[in-house]
Parts: sequence; structure tokens; C-alpha cells
Amino acid sequence: QLATLENTFAHELEGLGVPWQPVASPEPQLVLHNEALAAELGVSLDLDVFAGRAVPDGAVPIAMAYAGHQFGGYSPRLGDGRALLLGELVDRDGRRRDLHLKGSGRTPFARGGDGKAVLGPMLREAVIGEAMHALGIPTTRALAVVATGDRVMREAGALPGAILTRVAASHIRVGTFEYAARNGGLRELADYAIARHYPGLSYLELLSAVVDAQARLIAQWMLVGFIHGVMNTDNMAISGETIDYGPCAFMDRYDPATVFSSIDHMGRYAYGNQPRIAVWNLARFAETLLPLIGGDDAVERATDVLHGFDDAYGRAWRAGMTAKLGLAEPDAAFFEDTLTLLHEQRVDYTSFFRALPDAALGDTRRAHALFTDPAAFDAWADRWRPLTSSDALAAMNGVNPAYIPRNHLVEEALTAAMSDDLEPLGRLIEVLARPFEEREERAAYAQPAPDRFNGVYQTFCG
Ligand code: AMP
Ligand code: MG
Ligand code: MG
Repeated sequence: QLATLENTFAHELEGLGVPWQPVASPEPQLVLHNEALAAELGVSLDLDVFAGRAVPDGAVPIAMAYAGHQFGGYSPRLGDGRALLLGELVDRDGRRRDLHLKGSGRTPFARGGDGKAVLGPMLREAVIGEAMHALGIPTTRALAVVATGDRVMREAGALPGAILTRVAASHIRVGTFEYAARNGGLRELADYAIARHYPGLSYLELLSAVVDAQARLIAQWMLVGFIHGVMNTDNMAISGETIDYGPCAFMDRYDPATVFSSIDHMGRYAYGNQPRIAVWNLARFAETLLPLIGGDDAVERATDVLHGFDDAYGRAWRAGMTAKLGLAEPDAAFFEDTLTLLHEQRVDYTSFFRALPDAALGDTRRAHALFTDPAAFDAWADRWRPLTSSDALAAMNGVNPAYIPRNHLVEEALTAAMSDDLEPLGRLIEVLARPFEEREERAAYAQPAPDRFNGVYQTFCG
């Protein structure tokens, strides 16, 4: 048996979920099991649960209701169309965590969808989530991925189906509040979210805490070059975890306009837009809280709190960039000039920072290899060296990853997994679990994408 689950969300917030059962996988095959996470949760492997063939003791699975602004337009009823909240368990550190199935069949929220998920994108969510976790970025994580034995029809043809078992601090989204604000249960939801994530706070303080958590999260994304790809309000978690890995990807060459998602035609969710979009989403969250905040000046007070995003984001980003560059103290003008240089020179963002410790010691070979015009690096480095401190330089390799889930590596590993070769995926996950430990034999994992990948790579929602 997996574990005995609790169902506080399902019990306390009845209007926000519909009791529902998973569709049993016809021929389940375990493709991925996250042993480290299983140990954290104190659960054992249970293929039947991961495959939707059984529910754990005490589980009352529900399809969660939520609304959401998608690409700026409001949808009053989204909800778990192909997912279920199985329940919660308290991990070995005393934290309550959700166990959730994705790809477990149609629910009352499925609309035109088939309720299924494709193996490739579910493995992608697992790999990128683990990479984010290893980078120290708050995220939901995959406990298991099971191939269902089902075929799923997509544009590309018939693809192998899968169920991903997801672990999250909770699945309460901005979109959950948008739904409750219009359909009832708002105060109960807010009280529940406060008790679970931000104990003791008032409603205005809840807003402030979520603004702060999101500001710090987005700063971390920006610092590692992560592009979420579909920052709709239903994909923004109140807990401050990264959630819903669909068309996400890591930027290679530095360019704020970078977009990988096949459906983001306007570049709304481009790399450089992410902080602004986060504020926009948080404004939708703030609107739902106005009746709870109360008083004639609720709008003013909520607006003040929202304005705190820029400050919190700026503080986190500047501290991060100071560390990434090995500087003695923040220097806004220098940051800006550095990013302009990276953009002009089409420099691989991740590799740049890893080349700097050598350059500080006078060995500029690694850095030069990244620049179209190496002299441009030298001029930059002349300005950079006097701004550094020896302590900060020594700590750089602990904040700048050598390994990120590069698009071409992820694609390679997924392609192999599709033809039943799980080796490359296993190795990639291993490398990404220690992103700061550079090793000679792992050099290939640190290489920028081959040229054929640049400017043509696209991601899909799966
Ligand atoms: P997402 O783009 O992953 O944030 O999902 C947006 C909405 O579409 C959510 O309500 C999902 O549950 C729903 N959805 C996505 N794919 C499917 C599917 N294959 N079947 C049913 N619902 C889906
Ligand atoms: Mg979603
Ligand atoms: Mg999704």
C-alpha cells in the first residue's frame, strides 16, 4: 500500500471539487519512479495507484474546479479535465503535500478533451521538475510516470499514453480563487489557503505573502533562464511553486524575446515578459480578495501590496545576479550592460557564467569560445574584475549551474524513451540532479545546442 491519504481539501471545500475516479490503465508499465521523493514522503511504490487501477486507503479523489485567464481572456470553468487530486499526505518534515494524477481520464471538466496525457510530455514534466528542484527552485515534482498501454490521438498521430503522479505543496491556483469568487466558497478557500500555506495571516497579508513568494519565484526563473511558456492564472500556484510544465523550456542564447511555445504567437509569455505577467496574474488574484479585505479603501490597500512586487522581485533578482557575477555588491548599470552584451553577442546564457571563474584567473579560453567577438568579452572583463570580490568569485560555481535541461538533451532522451530505451533519460536525470558539480565525463551535457536547434525549437502542451 502506498500510504493512507487525508482529504482536507475535498472535505472542507466541497464546492471546489467533484468526486471522481481514475480510468484504469489497460496495460501499465512503470517508466519512472522518483525514489528520493518517495523517501521524503514515506511512501512505497504502488504501480496500481500510479496507473489509476486503485486508489490509496482513505482517498476521496476529486477533479478540482478552477477558472482562469488564458492568454488574457477569462474562462469561467476550466478545472481538472484530465487530472485528479487523490488526497494529501504529511511528509517526513511535517509538510502537507498533494498527491495528484495527471492523464487519468476524462472528468466533468474535460469539455472536448480526451482526458489523456502523452508519455513524452509527462516525462518532460518529470525531468524539468527535477532539474528545477535541484536548482533550488520551488516546484511541483513527479513521483512516478506510468505508460498506460493506451494510444492517444494527437496531431502527430497515435502516441503512447501516460499518467504522471504529481506531488505539490497544494494545487490551489489563482484560478481556484477566480472560480470561488464567482461561484461561492471564497472565504472558506482563503481561510484554507492561509491555514495551509501562510498560517496566521489576514487576507491582505495573504495577498502580500503570495506576491512575495511569486516575486522570489519569478526572479529565480529569470536567473536560470527558465521560460514557463503558459503563465495563465490557472497555472500560478498560491504556494509559490512552479506548476504545470507544458511548453516550458530553458533559454540558450540570451534574448529577452525568447519564446518556445507553439501556441504563444504574440510572445505574451516570452522570457523577458515573465515578471510583468506575474504582476498581471497577481492583480487578478487581488481582485478576488477585495470583498474579504473589505473597507472603502480595499482597492488602494490591495494596489499598494501589488506594487510591492517590483521591490521584492528586484531585490531577489539583484542579489541573485550579484552572486552569479561574483560581484562585491549589486551594480544595476553593470547588470544592464552585461545583459546587453550577451544579447548582442548571442551568448549562451548558462555557459557564460560558468566561464567566469577561469576568466577571473586570467584564462579566457572558455569565455572567448562563447563570443562572436572575443575582444568584446575582454573589454567587458576589464570592467568586471575590479567589481568582483574573492569570496563571491569562490562561490560562483555554487550558484551558476553547469547543467540545465537543455532542449536538445531533453528531446534526445525522450525520443530514446519512446523507443523503449530509458538509458539516456536516466543519465540525464542523474546529471541534472547535481547541476553545480561539473565533471569531465559530463562535458557533452554542458554544451550549447547544436546550430540546427537554434531558432527552430518549439514546445507543445501535450
Ligand atoms: P493547461 O494548458 O495544461 O493549463 O490546461 C488547461 C485546461 O485544459 C485545464 O482545464 C486542463 O484540465 C484541460 N485539458 C488539457 N488537456 C486536456 C485533455 N487532454 N483532456 C481534458 N482536459 C484537458
Ligand atoms: Mg494548467
Ligand atoms: Mg498543462
